[in-house]
Amino acid sequence: MKKKRLVILGGGESGVGTALLAKAKGYEVFVSDKGIIKEKYKKVLIHNEIEWEEQKHTESKILNAYVVMKSPGIPEKVALVQQLINKEIPVISEIEFASKYTKATIVGITGSNGKTTTATLTDHILKQELNVGLAGNIGDSFAKQVLEEDYKNYVLEISSFQLDGIVDFKPQIAVITNITPDHLDRYNYQFENYIASKFSIAKNQTAEDYLIYDADDEVITNWLKTHPVQSTLLPFSLVKVIENGAYLKQENIIITIDNNQIIMPTNKLALEGKHNLKNAMAASTVAHLLKIRKQTIRESLQNFQGVEHRLEHVLKINKVQYINDSKATNVNATYYALESMDAPTIWIVGGVDKGNNYEELFPFVNEKVKAIICLGVDNEKLMSTFGGMVDVIAETQFMTEAIKMAYKIAENGDNVLLSPACASFDLFENYEDRGRQFKEAVRNL
Ligand code: ADP
Repeated sequence: MKKKRLVILGGGESGVGTALLAKAKGYEVFVSDKGIIKEKYKKVLIHNEIEWEEQKHTESKILNAYVVMKSPGIPEKVALVQQLINKEIPVISEIEFASKYTKATIVGITGSNGKTTTATLTDHILKQELNVGLAGNIGDSFAKQVLEEDYKNYVLEISSFQLDGIVDFKPQIAVITNITPDHLDRYNYQFENYIASKFSIAKNQTAEDYLIYDADDEVITNWLKTHPVQSTLLPFSLVKVIENGAYLKQENIIITIDNNQIIMPTNKLALEGKHNLKNAMAASTVAHLLKIRKQTIRESLQNFQGVEHRLEHVLKINKVQYINDSKATNVNATYYALESMDAPTIWIVGGVDKGNNYEELFPFVNEKVKAIICLGVDNEKLMSTFGGMVDVIAETQFMTEAIKMAYKIAENGDNVLLSPACASFDLFENYEDRGRQFKEAVRNL
């Protein structure tokens, strides 16, 4: 029998993982990347005798595909993808492909903010008692893990771009952490399209599957009113009582599923901030569904180490706490960072503005921020927005200088917070690079 041809667009982590899995499952595989493929991936492709090309897309080798796996970074509107769609060649994502080859229970976590934190925390709790793989936008690709490890359970962090390429993919447990406008350039600048993409995580679910979501998020609740899903709903809330799902009662998280209730104190949670309380609720609801013991959930919430670049406590110098929240690349993430500050804060902000509206931050800036250091190539908008609001506002293009300025201003008990609310590529390679430079500069003080 002739082998089916799977063409993979994009030779990164998900592309190469898919190539390996597909080859093992008997496909004829071809990997094509418009850019340069990293050395480590080239080696894998060569070692496994998988055909590949870089710095071009050879149409004659692509348009004859039986199915195409598109890496999430490639927009649907590019001409080649449109050609494939016109020829009715299915264009799918890695999670669609890889999920066909595992019988594992899948927890799929999406949302605008909090995916990585919630997925990592969920994995941390589950792995105390279950055989779990953590994949998606984190670490080794899902496809590679399906091939090499074949875990019994997966926690997948799933972006909207990955969801755009699903057909039959279904997580038994889906989580939507929240929905705020992001990546709209990929959705024809229609917020509805982006919301629909997030909700497609539940599109193949039935009443036996669960959808866990933030009931305090009006974008989500309004959408559900007009676009009902088949899934069994398990909302979580910080402000209202939830009969089936999770809510906050005094200092406890109460989670009820089919009359089976667990109660967990919030006073010793490892992660700070209201947003992390929500992430903890979502993760513990997953754990409760999968029958993890209450004591295990409680302990795991307390000893979780957190995730790098997300409100990461770096060092305390002269009783000043330095906090790295470099992953805050939008205003909503910074909102929660500022909200969680429990001391006067020197706030380092700036980078590439994505059309930010800073208004929702004003109350926190008035209440908690004693100085602002704008770190970017173009700080004009920040300077004019916040100039009248705080006594000290300065600008720089160098992380080391920003830290020195902060160090000079800071007094006993203050926080120095890097939470940029902007993308990083004006001055840095990516948000990780920005966070690492922050930490290094702090350590060199
Ligand atoms: P994602 O993977 O969705 O980008 P992360 O967990 O990496 O989310 O967090 C991104 C940023 O958003 C960090 O600055 C973090 O502190 C903040 N954040 C985390 N959880 C939430 C949440 N539930 N709501 C809003 N912001 C959050």
